[in-house]
Amino acid sequence: MAAERLVVIGGDAAGMSAASQARRLKGPGELDIVAFERGRFTSYSACGVPYWVGGDVEGPDALIARTPEEHRERSIDLRMRTEVTGIDVAGQRVRALDRDSGEAYWTDFDKLVIATGARPVRPELPGIDAAGVHGVQTLDDGQALLETLERTTGRRAVVVGAGYIGVEMAEAMLRRGYEVTVVNRGAQPMATLDPDMGRLVHEAMDGMGITTVNGASVTRILTGPDGRVSAVATADATYPADVVVLGIGVEPETGLARAAGLPTGPSGGLLTDLSMRVRGHHNIWAGGDCVEVLDLVAGRTRHIALGTHANKHGQVIGANAGGGYGTFPGVVGTAVSKVCDLEIGRTGLREKDAAAVGLRYVTATIESTGRAGYYPGARPMTVKMIAEYRTGRLLGVQIVGREGAAKRVDVAAVALTAGMTVEAMTALDLGYAPPFSPVWDPVLVAARKAVTEVRKAGSA
Ligand SMILES: Cc1cc2nc3c(=O)[nH]c(=O)nc-3n(C[C@H](O)[C@H](O)[C@H](O)COP(=O)(O)OP(=O)(O)OC[C@H]3O[C@@H](n4cnc5c(N)ncnc54)[C@H](O)[C@@H]3O)c2cc1C
Repeated sequence: MAAERLVVIGGDAAGMSAASQARRLKGPGELDIVAFERGRFTSYSACGVPYWVGGDVEGPDALIARTPEEHRERSIDLRMRTEVTGIDVAGQRVRALDRDSGEAYWTDFDKLVIATGARPVRPELPGIDAAGVHGVQTLDDGQALLETLERTTGRRAVVVGAGYIGVEMAEAMLRRGYEVTVVNRGAQPMATLDPDMGRLVHEAMDGMGITTVNGASVTRILTGPDGRVSAVATADATYPADVVVLGIGVEPETGLARAAGLPTGPSGGLLTDLSMRVRGHHNIWAGGDCVEVLDLVAGRTRHIALGTHANKHGQVIGANAGGGYGTFPGVVGTAVSKVCDLEIGRTGLREKDAAAVGLRYVTATIESTGRAGYYPGARPMTVKMIAEYRTGRLLGVQIVGREGAAKRVDVAAVALTAGMTVEAMTALDLGYAPPFSPVWDPVLVAARKAVTEVRKAGSA
């Protein structure tokens, strides 16, 4: 009997995890695996780009987990620089275009994996394509930015957007000796936090010498006589720039899938079931940045573009496409990032997310330190906890502070996943020694305050 064919579109985290996992379960005699990647790199870590640009890590080779040759050694027919330009669902085939030779051809599939990722938002502003304006979505983008930095003598950088990529890139440019201005449409940096916690990030960035302009939308990018970027304009001001970095967010890359009639949700991501099968299609799976995920706290789907999810999706898809079994239950919305020595962690719902799904809640915010107060190097940490009114169920946690702040949020992620109340959290047996935390860990202090707030609100 001829081997079945699994076709994978997209050769990064989700796609190649799926291909590799399927190959672990089924040998080449049973399953033929063909993967298409339109770019020059496969299995790379875009997450490392800010640290490569900032000079903390080497690149690009160090950011590549597995080369095309290594995949081919595992009997995965990986076709680089080859873009899938059409999916014929009924005919079970995809149309591919070799970007180097220009050759176009059809390839049949028995099973299909869509892992096309996300594309950066790039508003149609005058000057957006000028030399010196860079995105940071891929290793090629990182390389192009570094080449610009080598050629540029001026030292003014404007970062557009203050999400986690924007703030990480602000740090990278600061470390390279640039005078950095962040132009941010939101009320505070890090819109994944509530504004009161985002304000702490803003203040810390000020202290680092990063200027953040909030509530400002870019209207155009100005260029000099040489055609290179010279400034970034908003409705109210102009910010001189020798280089501009865009970090405005991403959208699911689902044009191909939508054209093939596959179902997408409100944010444009593909809709799947828990086995990552595209709804209504028994032999098509999708994962990574091109899908919507179930938010277990809010009870509805959302688009969250994170590598941690993409890798897990790939594993589940590979297990199922390889004849095994796996499911991805959903997410609680955990993310961590940093700007210089300021760490940021968040999980679960913000106040506005809770309100949007009709949950009544209380909040508790506490100040503590990452180590015992008397231990050298103890630095402040702020923890905000959101709990459901009456039931006290944990709904979300945000942490801003120095060393040890970001990954503390993982405790809250576990509590959220387990559906714990803030009262139950106060009894968690968390580790303590003076170099690591005060005797009452900041997460426990926040839980205790949240219990008080829940009781107060319940008796009001
Ligand atoms: C600067 C930066 C920092 C980040 N930091 C973090 C972090 O700290 N933590 C975290 O969890 N996540 C982080 N992420 C997000 C993470 O990189 C992504 O979530 C992850 O790469 C998604 O994997 P994916 O396989 O779904 O999509 P992608 O990595 O986008 O891969 C999709 C691939 O599909 C290819 N493709 C698309 N369409 C076609 C087509 N038609 N034919 C052929 N190939 C196609 C693309 O070329 C691409 O290589 C960061 C991202 C960036 C840009």
